[in-house]
Amino acid sequence: MTRILSVTSECVPLVKTGGLADVAGALPAALKPLGHEMRTLLPGYPTVMKALKKTRTVLTEDDLFGGPARVLEARVAGLSLYVLDAAHLFKREGSPYLDVDGNDFPDNPERFAALSWMAMRIAQDGAGGWTPQLVHAHDWQGALAPYYLKTNGVDVPSVLTIHNIAFHGLAPANRLASLRLDPSDFTEDGFEFWGQIGALKAGLQFATALTTVSPTYARELTTPEFGMGLDGVLRARSGDLTGILNGIDLEVWDPKTDPNIATYKTARGKGRAKARLRKEFGLPDADGPLAVVVSRLSHQKGLDLLLEALPAFIDRGGQLALLGSGDKELEAAFVKTAAAQANVAVRIGYDEALSHRMMAGADAILVPSRFEPCGLTQLYGLRYGAIPVVAATGGLVDTVIHASPMAMRSGVATGLQVSPLTAHALAATMVQLVDLFQDVDAWAMLQSNAMRQSVGWEASAAEYAGLYDRLTDSA
Ligand code: ADP
Repeated sequence: MTRILSVTSECVPLVKTGGLADVAGALPAALKPLGHEMRTLLPGYPTVMKALKKTRTVLTEDDLFGGPARVLEARVAGLSLYVLDAAHLFKREGSPYLDVDGNDFPDNPERFAALSWMAMRIAQDGAGGWTPQLVHAHDWQGALAPYYLKTNGVDVPSVLTIHNIAFHGLAPANRLASLRLDPSDFTEDGFEFWGQIGALKAGLQFATALTTVSPTYARELTTPEFGMGLDGVLRARSGDLTGILNGIDLEVWDPKTDPNIATYKTARGKGRAKARLRKEFGLPDADGPLAVVVSRLSHQKGLDLLLEALPAFIDRGGQLALLGSGDKELEAAFVKTAAAQANVAVRIGYDEALSHRMMAGADAILVPSRFEPCGLTQLYGLRYGAIPVVAATGGLVDTVIHASPMAMRSGVATGLQVSPLTAHALAATMVQLVDLFQDVDAWAMLQSNAMRQSVGWEASAAEYAGLYDRLTDSA
């Protein structure tokens, strides 16, 4: 039994802004049958504090980056949590990272340095008698943990997982002292990133092993196109970098038992769920495929390209229902398109239950991301028989088998990949989707292949377990 401390800024079901939360929430349960005990260190945001019932204080600090703090041990939804209760850092309105006006909290570097610092403290002294044998940090918010372990002489191996390299956790150089960083490491070989402090870079340099969330993204990260300025560091450490695909929670996303979609039937019964979904979105009945998008609306997700590609799809009888929020210009553009076009409907917002109903009722799910470390919605789509149409990038490549002539002939295709990712190519692929949809046999095969893919955590948890075993020599 290996004891692992997971260090994360988000964790389902307590707090989520993206896929990281799903991974952090699912991994502990998936590791358990493999003999690994994962506990999770999480900031005590108001929503997290509210969810706690019975707690025990297991560690205190008089001055944690500007105020007192304690670590509370608690159990929520099957998770063993260490919650960092530090009101001066986390008791705020807004999202985990942004104030109510959508601006980054100016002390974000300190807030998550504090989280990373406490991970080091737990590894150093234990928490309520529990001491991890390995620290697994996630993204820039946890990335200083490997650094603090090293600089404080705590001999515990660490793993850093990159969920999204777009966020570097940068801070101005004059914050070295306030972030408890050694100025002698403020070099190119340390955590300096073009004159600034880079928390993610620190993790990439100091963690014992690095992972990211798909094999293709692991390769892409070592290129200038995807590495976002950190590709050199990742090339230097490519021997320590592996890609392990994310899974999805097969209980939460189970078309047979999902309480959000009580009317769902198997692929053959999609008609009913689709009719309901159309009604819910105010879309007319139609013979063409109903495609959905469930996504943050950001440049990354390539949905500006979808706006351009959409007319070709609609002209061929396709329909689109989109659920998302984020970039205000994109929100406005989709709302405008929906107002002008009866076969396009848009919901701006975040709605977990609706996202389930959309997977149940959709014929296809569109994920035209410019980059996508793993992506989860295409996995939900596979499981619910909504055929993924994806950009040929990152985890999308690793999870969707393109309906090439040979893959169709061999009976293994599960979706469509767009490559290269341009509005024109996306339009062409969406037209191909309509053609496939009209070929009843081909479509039935795609759907049944999609729904048979193994998209749970089992295989990936075994890969993490193998990595932990190698690092702790306990195989
Ligand atoms: P990212 O982490 O880059 O946002 P992922 O596909 O890895 O992308 O994970 C996104 C997660 O957030 C998925 O679980 C998806 O269903 C969910 N999600 C995104 N936008 C919405 C929304 N507007 N409503 C409900 N769920 C959403």
